[in-house]
Amino acid sequence: MSTLRISTWTLEKIAEHAGATLHGPSDGDVSGVSTDTRSIAPGALFVALRGERFDGHGFVQSAFERGAAAALVDADWWNANAESPAGHILLVVDDTLEALTRLGHALWQEATAGGMQTVAVTGSNGKTTTKELLAALWSTRGKVWATPGNLNNHIGVPLTLCALPEDCDHLICEMGANHVGEISQLVRLAPGFARVITSIGSAHLEGFGSMAGIRRGKSEIFETADGDTHAILPFSEKDKLILEGFPGKVWTFGSEEGARVRVIALREHAPGEPPGMDVSLEVDSRKLSLSLPLLGMHNATNLAAALATLAAGEVELDETRLNEALSRLILPGGRFRQLVVRGVHILDDAYNANPSSVRASVEAFERWATSRHCEGRFAVLGEMLELGEGAGDAHAELARWVAAREAIDGLAFVGGFSERMAQSALKVQPELDVRAFSSITDDLIAWVGARKGGAVLLKGSRGGRLETIVDALTNDP
Ligand code: ATP
Ligand code: MG
Repeated sequence: MSTLRISTWTLEKIAEHAGATLHGPSDGDVSGVSTDTRSIAPGALFVALRGERFDGHGFVQSAFERGAAAALVDADWWNANAESPAGHILLVVDDTLEALTRLGHALWQEATAGGMQTVAVTGSNGKTTTKELLAALWSTRGKVWATPGNLNNHIGVPLTLCALPEDCDHLICEMGANHVGEISQLVRLAPGFARVITSIGSAHLEGFGSMAGIRRGKSEIFETADGDTHAILPFSEKDKLILEGFPGKVWTFGSEEGARVRVIALREHAPGEPPGMDVSLEVDSRKLSLSLPLLGMHNATNLAAALATLAAGEVELDETRLNEALSRLILPGGRFRQLVVRGVHILDDAYNANPSSVRASVEAFERWATSRHCEGRFAVLGEMLELGEGAGDAHAELARWVAAREAIDGLAFVGGFSERMAQSALKVQPELDVRAFSSITDDLIAWVGARKGGAVLLKGSRGGRLETIVDALTNDP
């Protein structure tokens, strides 16, 4: 484990950058930053955040009991509790989230002054995948720090920055949003030399209001740019995203003719080969053939986005080195987990879902099942959350789309809108095996379990927890 930059800072320096008043001994230091006492490491600075459901100030005492070196608290709590944590080091501010944000940005500034390069990654889908691809590919060129897991919001980005290693050469920072204005704030915390939009789709339509709102919100990643900034975006979006006044250079990627980094062909690996596919690409007319341990055109375009970013960073694209790095890629859970349970080939992509990611997933699933010679292809589709007013229609439309696909032999819809989805699907394909389940029931588990030799896709929003179907099948004697 390398030293975190923050551990090289004195408490006085931390307090200064956080805009905090320091109480207690001031000659110590901290090992890192944590907002959660369940996972706090000894010596950490505990940051008490006030949320809608939780107030971290209720855990200050427990943080100290678990070895926190200091706590960042707000003035309200300090005024009410000034007596109790005697002997402990407290940093007091008006607003702890704002202080955490300032601290993260100050650490980023120092690292950047020391030569660190930043890539900021946003998009409707594919942020984490592209971030992990970039982290793997860039790690052959120096020390990389990337957003841990999915810490991509107004708390996650500052936490990512507070955990910057001292000797970091490249930062890959995922930035997520569910409403207009959010990316604008996040990109100011770590404005990279490269700004990537992985894809535009109808994720978080509820908060953004419309597709135009989504494009506007994602285009905020291009703010605060200069002539040396690179915008990296899907070819299909080049005339739709807001690039007016962008002073830097533009890179497009995609499978379409004209994309600067272009996916030419895919070949799924045969059974017996490591799971994944071969992707042929062209980067500015230079051909590359890469082996990716992921599936689907959407992942090939995520790879194209990552390669465009490397090219923007003037990294030499050496096929052998790139392939070596890709072979080590591991994505955080629930994204295209491939397994065989009781003879059923399962593709667990139940990490999240919105209309565009479900379509991408179904298409990739069909190719995957075909390459494995599975007998029959079945999809379990859960509810897609956060779609706002048009949610019912969006579910019905998706059901019609998936039912019309010849490669699909059966469909099970689960949770909200499942009845409506089933009816819509049956209107398109009256002969299809279509089921509706209000929740994950024994009948649904049996329906999946009966697909021996066949392939089943699990896809739904995080809240639907479709992956528990795998657990139930695995544990059922
Ligand atoms: P989140 O908003 O939850 O952070 P994310 O943007 O980080 O999501 P990933 O975690 O990389 O996205 O992928 C989530 C799912 O989105 C994948 O399981 C896949 O189904 C789908 N997906 C990934 N990349 C793309 C893409 N480029 N276009 C469409 N769908 C995609
Ligand atoms: Mg993510």
